[in-house]
Amino acid sequence: MGSLIRCVCGGDVRTNIFEGHKDYRLVQDDEFDRLRDSGVEDLASQVFFGGREVFRCPSCARLIVFWERTGRPTFYAEEHHKFDDKDDA
Ligand SMILES: [Zn+2]
Repeated sequence: MGSLIRCVCGGDVRTNIFEGHKDYRLVQDDEFDRLRDSGVEDLASQVFFGGREVFRCPSCARLIVFWERTGRPTFYAEEHHKFDDKDDA
């Protein structure tokens, strides 16, 4: 992955964290539990390096997820809807 992603909106998403650009990690809960339960000394580092990379487009706020470390990104647009309390169960 280069240090720049072109979002589907046309915006540029810079990915070089050493230049101060933000990225996030997405960690599956059972993977987190496995790491925590294994007693690794530096859980934060394990989660950081083991999680999927996620970026956020500064133009449209889409999330850009790399499900596979060397694969192509998947784009997720914000979607707002009114939650119905009955759906929270
Ligand atoms: Zn965008």
